[in-house]
Amino acid sequence: MSKSKLEGGCACGSIRYQLSMPPMIVHACHCRDCQRITGSAFVINLWIERKFVEKSGDTPQSFRLKGGTGKPHDVFFCGKCGTYVWSRYHAPPGDTIFVRAGTLDDPSAVEPDVHIFTRTKVPWLALPAGVPAFESMYPDFAAVWSAESLQRFRRNAAETR
Ligand SMILES: [Zn+2]
Ligand SMILES: [Zn+2]
Repeated sequence: MSKSKLEGGCACGSIRYQLSMPPMIVHACHCRDCQRITGSAFVINLWIERKFVEKSGDTPQSFRLKGGTGKPHDVFFCGKCGTYVWSRYHAPPGDTIFVRAGTLDDPSAVEPDVHIFTRTKVPWLALPAGVPAFESMYPDFAAVWSAESLQRFRRNAAETR
C-alpha cells in the first residue's frame, strides 16, 4: 500500500507519530463534520489500531463531538498549532483511531480505498472510477475490506473487549 514509511506530525512539529503497520483501510469521508473539522472538501483517514501508532512529542489535546451514529467522536489536535492529527470514534468495537493522511510527511503515500458520505460531497469533485463510493457509511465491512484487514479488525475488537 505505502511506498514510504508512514510517519508524520502536526504543522509546528510538537507532535510526531509513526505507524508500525499499514492502515487497515483508508477512508475518504465527505460528511459535513469532516468538512468542517478539516476546513476542506473531505478528509482522508487512515483507520488503524491505536497500538500501531507510535507517538512522540506533545500529548494531543481533544474535544468531543457526537458522531453520526450518536456515539462520541473525540478529535485530537496539537495544543500549540491546532492541527487535527487523529480521531477516535466510539461506535466501532476495539481500540482504533483515524489518523489524518494530510499530516503525513508524504501524503501521496496513501490513496483512499473507499469514499463515504458522498451524499454531501461537493459537486465539483469527481471521484475516481473503480474506487467504491457510498452515500453514507457502508453497511457490510466484508464487501469493502481486505480479508487480512478484517482479521486485524476482529482481533483488535476481541483483544480490547
Ligand atoms: Zn503542533
Ligand atoms: Zn466524516
